[in-house]
Amino acid sequence: MDKEHIRNFCIIAHIDHGKSTLADRMLQLTGTISDREMMDQVLDSMDLEREKGVTIKASAVRMIYQAKNGESYELNLIDTPGHVDFSYEVSRALMACEGALLVVDATQGIEAQTLANLYLALDADLVIVPVINKIDLPSARVDEVAEDIHNLLGIEPEKILRISAKEGINVDQVLETVVKEIPPPKGDLDAPLQALIFDSHYDSYKGVVAYVRVMDGKVNPTDMLRMMSTNVDIRPVEIGVFSPDMRPVKELQAGDVGYIATGLKTVSECRVGDTITTIVRPAEKPLPGFRHPKPMVFAGIYPVEGEDYEDLKEALEKLQLNDASLVFEPEKSQALNFGFRCGFLGLFHMEIIQERLEREYDLDIVVTAPSVEYEVVLNSGEVIRIDSPAQLPDESQIAEIREPWMILQIITPVDYYGTVMELVKKRRGIFKEQEYPAPTRVQLTFEIPLSELIVDFFDELKSRTRGYASMDYHFADYRPGNLTKLEVLVGGEPVDALATIVHRDNAYHKGQALVSKLKELIPRQLFDVAIQASASGRIISRANVKALRKDVLAKCYGGDITRKKKLLEKQKRGKRRMKMVGNVEIPQEAFMAILRLE
Ligand code: GDP
Ligand code: MG
Repeated sequence: MDKEHIRNFCIIAHIDHGKSTLADRMLQLTGTISDREMMDQVLDSMDLEREKGVTIKASAVRMIYQAKNGESYELNLIDTPGHVDFSYEVSRALMACEGALLVVDATQGIEAQTLANLYLALDADLVIVPVINKIDLPSARVDEVAEDIHNLLGIEPEKILRISAKEGINVDQVLETVVKEIPPPKGDLDAPLQALIFDSHYDSYKGVVAYVRVMDGKVNPTDMLRMMSTNVDIRPVEIGVFSPDMRPVKELQAGDVGYIATGLKTVSECRVGDTITTIVRPAEKPLPGFRHPKPMVFAGIYPVEGEDYEDLKEALEKLQLNDASLVFEPEKSQALNFGFRCGFLGLFHMEIIQERLEREYDLDIVVTAPSVEYEVVLNSGEVIRIDSPAQLPDESQIAEIREPWMILQIITPVDYYGTVMELVKKRRGIFKEQEYPAPTRVQLTFEIPLSELIVDFFDELKSRTRGYASMDYHFADYRPGNLTKLEVLVGGEPVDALATIVHRDNAYHKGQALVSKLKELIPRQLFDVAIQASASGRIISRANVKALRKDVLAKCYGGDITRKKKLLEKQKRGKRRMKMVGNVEIPQEAFMAILRLE
């Protein structure tokens, strides 16, 4: 199709505002997939995503649309991940587009990620088409939300599309507006090839499949190609388009969206944001903005049963095939034996990996409390980076510890102003500024240590604001902090997997809270178990788990054999997520206890 009849666009929205539902309706309306083929939410292809109702990976689909002016258009829809952990991926997907539909839920209004994604889209110079969704719901505040969007973007309220993606109301208007308002792609057909990789997946026959937007030039299946940032050369296995299944084509040209099957074995050689060019006539420079994804949150993952180690390793390797931002390396813990130190983009990313290991790979695992990466300046002047409290050198060797700080934005109804302020302050946050994106809503900007955000922050924000607040965050810088290691001893032995790094002012309070929490969580054993917390070499709190008086089975002597069996079964099940540390059994919950301290 000639470029004048191509439209490349994406949908940006806060989670649950209806991005996937709208995408599905458009696929149906354009006959890209028949109603019969219509699985719920085609663009969210992973089970877990569908269940969680979020889109994790960007994907792309080509639709042919017969517009009211009688001409047909090629619409390339690029789906973007909706969660804050994936904002780099979102920014790459946006670069592949000329326009964005900004979907806002009429019952919720503008949320933190609506704004965060909008700013990314404006940075990428996209034409924004606002759409108010869920007008079918009785609680929809359509006019109010239209007014808010007007204040934000200056678009007349009457001109803003009002739809129900679920009921299919006015979705045809969305397609017409895409054709009218979003410009066709530019790009020089005769220039050297520059194809932007905005996503990828692993295919066992074709290797890593790079999702690309051709910015300049053209590409044929016979061209020898090069990834400009990773310097990897490939002979493509196939090139094609998503319609919506992968369909091979003879050529992709400037303006086109499609795929290049690279034959590569790992996604780390084919990075989102990298530029593909030809070897015979390479582009002078790669496209701007390429970054290596940087893990921000780290945790140990251990098999409950030592013999599952190899299976866990294999599962992590498989997950990594499709997820270059997941990193891991072997780790040995005194308490938990052999496992892996894993790095994630954020907490949400970590939860996804944990759930997939448990559900898709059926593994029983223990995950330790998450940690951030610290910069530790030693007395010698040397700077080391650690992502596990167990790696922290002795205090006498340390000159300074620096920790990552974030810019945090929270949007909340003004009624919750006080409680949000209090929460952030309690977590060492610093208030920076406030704005009012809508009359009854306030946007608060803070600086806050990442370590405080990964400890149950989002859940507490939600519960304090009855679910009405939303948040977005991004990295600011590393700052020195008055930090110390809080250690836990069980039965006199330090348990490395229970150690955390905390602010010195909070060490005493946290140590006490942690010990009393652990006392609840560690089951009674056949002997007394002492639990102690120590900081800077001093014991700051202790408690005892009293020994069990009698064997629970003693009651059953001479009794009913089925009852005895049931008890044994129950004990066995209870063991599944327990770990032996020395001669003490510690349940999974204990390793996460630090997350749930008051
Ligand atoms: P996403 O996270 O932005 O992709 O949101 P989804 O498309 O997954 O939608 C989130 C939830 O809102 C789902 O339960 C949808 O069925 C529902 N939903 C989406 N659009 C509409 C709509 O127009 N009306 C109503 N009533 N519900 C909708
Ligand atoms: Mg979705």
